[in-house]
Order: sequence, then structure tokens, then C-alpha cells
Amino acid sequence: MVKELVASQKKFFLQNLGTSTQYRKKALLNLQSAIYKYEQEILDALHKDLGKDPTEGYMSEIMRVLQELNHTLKILAHYTKPQTVKTPFTHFMGKSQIYYDPYGVVLIISPWNYPFSLCLSPLIGAIAAGNCVILKPSEYAPHTQAIITKIIQEIFDPSFVCVVCGDGEITQQLLQEKPDYVFFTGSTQVGKIIASACAPNLIPYTLELGGKNPCIIDKSADLALSARRIVWGKFFNAGQTCVAPDFILIHCSIKDKFLKLIQEEINRAFSATPLETIGTIISPTHFQRAIKFLESPHSLGKVYGGQNKNQKIEPTLIDFGSLSHTQALQLPLMQEEIFAPILPIFTYEEIQQCIQFILAFEKPLALYLFSQNKPIQDQILSSLSFGGGCINDCIMHITNPHLPFGGVGNSGIGSYHGKYSIETFCHKKSIYKSPKWELPLRYRPYTHFLGISKLKWLYFLTRYLKL
Ligand code: NAD
Repeated sequence: MVKELVASQKKFFLQNLGTSTQYRKKALLNLQSAIYKYEQEILDALHKDLGKDPTEGYMSEIMRVLQELNHTLKILAHYTKPQTVKTPFTHFMGKSQIYYDPYGVVLIISPWNYPFSLCLSPLIGAIAAGNCVILKPSEYAPHTQAIITKIIQEIFDPSFVCVVCGDGEITQQLLQEKPDYVFFTGSTQVGKIIASACAPNLIPYTLELGGKNPCIIDKSADLALSARRIVWGKFFNAGQTCVAPDFILIHCSIKDKFLKLIQEEINRAFSATPLETIGTIISPTHFQRAIKFLESPHSLGKVYGGQNKNQKIEPTLIDFGSLSHTQALQLPLMQEEIFAPILPIFTYEEIQQCIQFILAFEKPLALYLFSQNKPIQDQILSSLSFGGGCINDCIMHITNPHLPFGGVGNSGIGSYHGKYSIETFCHKKSIYKSPKWELPLRYRPYTHFLGISKLKWLYFLTRYLKL
């Protein structure tokens, strides 16, 4: 079945049926209408899969996709015609152009934590770029998978866009059929499996992975605002967000004040019933993994919160004080992405110590710095490599379609959103259109007309005249 599906999409692509601007635009508009039509069903599915509050569901899944759609519809035309770029003087009278060439059949593999938006956001870029698409949603969010399938079946010819449901096994079968591009969002561990499956056929790919995202709070930070924004960013979707703050590094002089403020903010945001208002951990296995972090010996840290039942964990803080990065690395919850509403807190005395702490971990997907001090901001931005982040906020960088979103090193390869999505899903084909007329400087015999000295003279002339 998988074999026939990929073959029919390759045929559709080669017949050039989906690549006109009109076809792409119509496809995106159909998707937009279907999302409006099925809004309630999408929110219900997200609630069933992840206990998502409808406002959180709308904000992070439906609105995100609609914003991406609107933005892409505005920029689409630009990428459907060749872009003329400068041509050097040495190519006198020639013309140079970039053609945004769709790859062909794109396989999009998505995770369960934002099961709707992380499946459909890359789809928008892939369609806008002129590709056919096979979507492989996460099997851990079955209700969302079902509504995605219903929408896609209703609006698209399966030779253009279709959904394949299943686990890693079916994904491996799809990869064997040599899609022309693979876009994967998920864990670093599975990302490596995807990269090795692509390697034998040199299939190009984007990997959108996870990581442990540090959140630094410097002495100069507005503490009440930091507490409010961190509580929002960390406990959104019950901490199951790839760009959520994973741990806090705070200056030792302000920790006690911050602990008081963040607890007040948790009480304000989740009222007296956090176990009812917070989202659900996706599966019993994921829940067991997360509560192990609470059960492990915490003689080294003081726990605030920690109650849990029915796959829910209340917003929890663990104060580890001045533990060094070497000691921190021994803690089970610092050896992998936490991905649950548990927030460890460590203190530092000097900013350099904080930088050393972060350097002990792999390059994160995001980093957040709360500081009003410009030199500290500059020092952090220039000393550390990470996917992206915010100064005095959390998560908001990924909601701007003008910014590319992606990781670096262990947190990913490549980026997307807005124009970066379209560029990701296209090969940039460089074309030089040569005129008939030319200065015959490049042909043999070289001594006949030019020679090295005249070549040097030409080079310096073009440099001097900035041609
Ligand atoms: P996962 O890696 O377990 O699964 C992701 C997808 O890969 C699923 O569709 C799954 O069916 C498929 N898959 C699983 N095993 C496979 C295999 N052996 N071969 C081929 N495909 C396989 O990730 P998850 O648990 O669904 O999601 C959580 C992870 O995703 C976290 O690490 C999180 O940080 C990361 N994430 C990253 C981003 C980002 O944009 N960078 C966004 C959300 C989540």
C-alpha cells in the first residue's frame, strides 16, 4: 500500500499537476476553510488526547496554523517565479536566477505534543513550495490523528496530499520508498534513526528535535514578570513543549524572592485545583517516566508541589540550590529532556559559572534570559550556541513567522516557518543565462590574449570599481 501510494504521488508530481501557483493557493485556501469548519472537532480531539484546555488548544494549535497559512498565502507568489540576482561584471550582459524547485514527494513525520500544528504547519510550507505530501501523524494522539485524516481525505486528492497512520514501523516502510524530502519533528533519539534511514539514498531532511532548554535569571531581571512568563511557558501543555524552559539558573542573591513569586504565580494561574486545570501527560508510560523524576532521591533538592494522579502532575519546582553542573549531571532529571510540569532550579554566583553549567549539556533548542543588563545579554548571546530564544520572555520567538525556527547540533538540523518553510521544501536551482556576445577572455590558448598579469589587472579593476 505504501509502495503504491508513494508511486502515485511521484507520478502526480511528474505530471506537474500540483505545481502551478493557482493550484497551491487553492489547496491552502481549502485547508483554511476545513480548519474553520472542523474547529470544534479539532479542539475536542486535543482535549481527548492531551486534556488540552480549549484556549490553549486554540492558541497553540489552530491559531498557529491559521497564522502560518495567512502569512504563506501572502508570500507564495514570490517563490513561484525565478528570482533574479546580481551578475558580476565578468559575466557581462548575462542574467543569473534562482529557481525554487520543489523536491517532489515530501514525507512529514510529526510528534504527539502539538499533534495538529506540528503536522499541518510544515504541510503548509511543503504545499506552497509545490510538493506532494505524505503526512505521518503521531500514533500517541489518536483522536487528533483521526481528525487530521478526515480533513485531508475531504479536501485533497491522495496523489497530492494524504495521511498514513501507524508507528515507527510504517514510517520505516515509507522511508524505504525513497521520498524526495523528509521533514521530521520528534526526539533526538528517533531523529538519528531517521537520518540513518535517509543516508543510503542521500534523501535530504530537516530534523526538528528537542533538548534541555536553560532559563537564566540574572540579578537585574524584573522578577515578578519573569515568574509570570516562566509559569506560562513551562506549564503550558503540562510542560510537554519542546521549547519549554527545562531548568532554571538563577543568581543566588535573588533565588528566595523568586521562589516566593513563582509559587504565588502558580497559585494564581492554576487556582486551588492544579490537578484539574493542568493538561494530561500523553500516556501511562510517559507519566511513569515523569513521576520517576519525583521519586528519585531528592536529598539534594527541596520539592515544592509534586502531587500527581490520573496522568496529571501539579506544577512542581525542585530547588537544588548551588549544585554544580557535575553534580547536576548525576540527577536522572538532568540526563534527559524533562517534558513534564517539573522545573528544577539551580543557583550561580558569576555569569561565567552559569555559562559553564550550560556548556556541560548538548546544544539546546531554546534558551531564555531574563535580564535588563545589556552586557550580560550580549555575553550570553555570544558565548552560547542554541536554536533560538527570547530575552525576557519564553516561547514567543516561535510565534513570529518572520523568524526561522529550528535547532542546532543535538536539537536539530534546518529550520522552518514563513518563508523559511518554503525555502526548506525547495531546492534552490541556480541558473546562469549567458548572452551570445562576450569578451573572449576565458578561452585557450591563454597566452594569446589574456595571461595571468591581465587577469590580475581585471580582478583588481572589478574590485576597485566594486563591480
Ligand atoms: P518521537 O521521536 O518518539 O516520535 C516522533 C515521530 O516519529 C512519531 O510520528 C513516531 O511514530 C515516529 N517514530 C517513532 N519511532 C520511530 C522509528 N524507529 N522510526 C521511524 N519513525 C519513528 O517523538 P515524540 O515522543 O512523539 O515527541 C516528543 C519529542 O519531540 C520531544 O523530544 C520533543 O522535544 C520533540 N519535539 C520537537 C519539536 C521541535 O519543533 N523541535 C516540537 C515538538 C516536539
